[in-house]
Amino acid sequence: MLKNDQLDAWDRENFFHPSTHLAQHARGESPNRIVTGGSGVYIEDRDGTKLLDAFAGLYCVNVGYGRSEIADAIAEQARELAYYHAYVGHGTEASITLAQMVMERAPDHMSKVYFGLGGSDANETNIKLVWYYNNILGRPEKKKIISRWRGYHGSGLMTGSLTGLELFHKKFDLPLSQVLHTVAPDYFRREDLSLSEAEFVAYCVADLEALIEREGADTIAAFIGEPALGTGGIVPPPSGYWEAIQAVLKKHDILLIADEVVSGFGRLGTMFGSDHYGIQPDFITIAKGLTSAYAPLSGSIVSDKVWKVLEDGTDEFGPIGHGWTYSAHPIGAAAGVANLKLIDSLGLVANAGSAGSYLKNALANALGDHANVGDIRGDGLLCAIEFVSDKASRTYLDPASKTGPQVATALLKEGVIGRAMPQGDILGFAPPLCISEAEIDKVVDATVKAVKSVF
Ligand code: PLP
Repeated sequence: MLKNDQLDAWDRENFFHPSTHLAQHARGESPNRIVTGGSGVYIEDRDGTKLLDAFAGLYCVNVGYGRSEIADAIAEQARELAYYHAYVGHGTEASITLAQMVMERAPDHMSKVYFGLGGSDANETNIKLVWYYNNILGRPEKKKIISRWRGYHGSGLMTGSLTGLELFHKKFDLPLSQVLHTVAPDYFRREDLSLSEAEFVAYCVADLEALIEREGADTIAAFIGEPALGTGGIVPPPSGYWEAIQAVLKKHDILLIADEVVSGFGRLGTMFGSDHYGIQPDFITIAKGLTSAYAPLSGSIVSDKVWKVLEDGTDEFGPIGHGWTYSAHPIGAAAGVANLKLIDSLGLVANAGSAGSYLKNALANALGDHANVGDIRGDGLLCAIEFVSDKASRTYLDPASKTGPQVATALLKEGVIGRAMPQGDILGFAPPLCISEAEIDKVVDATVKAVKSVF
């Protein structure tokens, strides 16, 4: 086995890591971690450090680490048939079974699922299909996409543009011109503190209406949103938000893409976030929870209404010119089938609901009165603490102080992984859906210690 120092040197010499301070990493100024194993909610590294992963990797290892049922399904598929493509009607038992299982779980008005590899490419597929749809309908001008500030939809050219976070635009010449952003449905961060939640929803609606008016509804094709904001700060929508937004979209014949890469398959305590908030999307993006990240796989679920137009399009123009070599990869599909069976047999959707309430209440009891805790929020097993410098006046901390990352680092010292969300001083939790109350108690105790050590 290679020694840690050899791996460390190779890592810093050769490996271009995503979302990393490249210079600091190459110079050896920032820590790295070589992860070797995992079981349940824990991961272990080469130094023998065991950490409770309260962010499930990147909110994706929903069934927990070390599930032999999924490992066995992957191994069996690799031995039987590691690869065949899905072009021109080809499939495997695994990909066809998984499509059936996904559609059984999706809202009734959805029709078919296209499989990709990750959340970003699934959203790229969605945008291409939206454009195709409007071209088939003879509306070539109706192409712009509205996203929200603080939304996260990936980091490709189009999806990085849809993402409403500065870090993903700066110095990349993004966003692309077809993308427009409207306000984040973040009630805690409202500028006018006197607004009630209902008034804030009206403000979000007015901003969207003004944007549509300014651009012209005949130029706007779709609106994309996560049911609850994820990477932008873990923010459940204010009550009534989705109902009001959908009314506007319907009025202007604008398609709705629900990006359920995080919320799909149980995280909010319902199979989909769309079920949770009464969303009736035209597309649903799925990834992470589809395989619990045991193998890369994503999907674009399209509605009956969209599917009908796609069929008409291929009757008129021939086969759809869209596909990846690895679309519906058999190994990903086998992992997906085993994963969805486990989610059912372990009752993880229900556990996400009850464990999520337990986590939020425990954090509120332990830290709700802390002078620097401005907000504790969440839905299901998606939960966050937002830190402030002054609670009464809702004054935020100086971003230069990097307080959020400091709390996450202190938490790590206590043996627990939380995530410092990239914009604002926000500590996020999204543990595996199998987390127990005893494990949540450990997360909360460690968080209390970490917060005390930083403030
Ligand atoms: N959409 C949402 C809501 C996400 O949270 C993410 C990733 O975190 C993506 C899309 C992009 O997925 P991927 O990183 O697999 O490309």
